[in-house]
Amino acid sequence: MAHPFKRQMAALAWACSVAAAMWAPPAHPKPPPKTAAAASAACFYEHVNFQGASFCSNADNGWVGSSWNDRISSVKVAPGAQVTLHEHRNHGGRTLTLDGDTVNLVPLGMNDLASSFKVSSGDGNTADLDVKCTPTVVLALEDTDPQRSRLFLDVSGDNPEAFMQDIGRKVCRTLYKRASEIRTASRVKLIVRYAPGEVAWKAGDGADITVMISTAHLQSVKNQNRDVGKEIKGILFHEMTHMYQQDDSDGHGADAGLIEGIADTVRFRNGFVPDGAQPNPNGRWNDGYRTTAFFLLWLDERYDSFIYQLNRTMDTQDGKTWTPESFKTITGKAVDQLWTDYRNAN
Ligand SMILES: [Zn+2]
Repeated sequence: MAHPFKRQMAALAWACSVAAAMWAPPAHPKPPPKTAAAASAACFYEHVNFQGASFCSNADNGWVGSSWNDRISSVKVAPGAQVTLHEHRNHGGRTLTLDGDTVNLVPLGMNDLASSFKVSSGDGNTADLDVKCTPTVVLALEDTDPQRSRLFLDVSGDNPEAFMQDIGRKVCRTLYKRASEIRTASRVKLIVRYAPGEVAWKAGDGADITVMISTAHLQSVKNQNRDVGKEIKGILFHEMTHMYQQDDSDGHGADAGLIEGIADTVRFRNGFVPDGAQPNPNGRWNDGYRTTAFFLLWLDERYDSFIYQLNRTMDTQDGKTWTPESFKTITGKAVDQLWTDYRNAN
């Protein structure tokens, strides 16, 4: 009879196979110009639909001045930024927080009422992100072969906890702009195990996360004269992305291929593109792993904060079921059209 814990682990585990193909330097697509990004975190307008007089700001303001007092009717908010309008001076009175462009403050009960505001650009301040993404790490070295264990320990150094925590912080800096957006992952047990036929997996959530990395795989990487350190870091970026990324579990789960694709996207973004990995325009957008990752990176070069926004659409707490329509919400184009564009460009 299967052990219930083991059965649960199997159900929860993301099978994170990493192809052990031959590796050659990746072809780097030439980055095209980005779509115009708002230069300011927020712009305020006299009328609805961003009409009339306007001004923009990147900073908090305790008094908008007599000429703007009780006058704002619509607000543009840059991707990732947040604006809180206050009814009175010095951030007093009623408040209304905006996470995105807001064409009309009338139905929100804040038209021609704001006298001060706060702006969070979402950029620059990583301290809060770092606190939330520095998990407690417990290391379980299960491989009794000292030479195979050293394959991991020689890379992690004498402080494997700090090694893992550093990767956790970088994952969150890649995926998020504000600490409040991060899916909580406070404790991870890292198992270093001799597991022939396996590469790595992640299971569990919150304060009960397990990541396994197989020394059998590391040994095979070494036997192929590939860079074991780069492989370990790449694997951990992928698995620790699963700890923090949104996967819309309250909506019965987002597309599994997309979730794996985002995990590889974070890995690639942090410099750990496996040797020989290349765009695969012959697949489908949700094939997962590197096929999806190259597509998402291509989109991120064309649509401001695309990966950040996509991850946000899979919020585990919003009560909404994820659909590929999210691609259209972010870019204005359906995912099939974007995939066709991508194929034509590659
Ligand atoms: Zn995975």
